[in-house]
Amino acid sequence: MLPLLSAAALLEIAQHCATIELPCNCSALPPGWAGWPVSLRENQLVQIGTLAQFEEEDATLDEFHPDGTYYWSPGAPIAPRFYPYNQCGLWQCNRCQRAFLRYNDDGAYHSEARIRRLSPELIVDAGHPFNGRYRPQP
Ligand SMILES: [Zn+2]
Repeated sequence: MLPLLSAAALLEIAQHCATIELPCNCSALPPGWAGWPVSLRENQLVQIGTLAQFEEEDATLDEFHPDGTYYWSPGAPIAPRFYPYNQCGLWQCNRCQRAFLRYNDDGAYHSEARIRRLSPELIVDAGHPFNGRYRPQP
């Protein structure tokens, strides 16, 4: 089982990653969400944890944007109880140890792999009314 990471645990990993200086092709990723870059091999990243407390159908689709950011904003907060972070795995580059958030955006016709760099300054331990579920626990 992969560890379920709290915002505090995520922050600790992110702060460590911010100190990594080893040049690597993965560090070219932008700060906001991005599609899977062609330069990155699937097996270059290894999953080390998860933020998903609930099954996808039970997780909230609410997003957290108190400062007027939106999904694609480079400065959008990383709030683990909110969408899409509540469906993300935490993945680590096996060359440089930098970490990334990753999930599959499931549309009606296709599924797209999305990836976001883990920036420590954007991680917020924001509370959700149902703790990240889309409705209160039955
Ligand atoms: Zn790397």
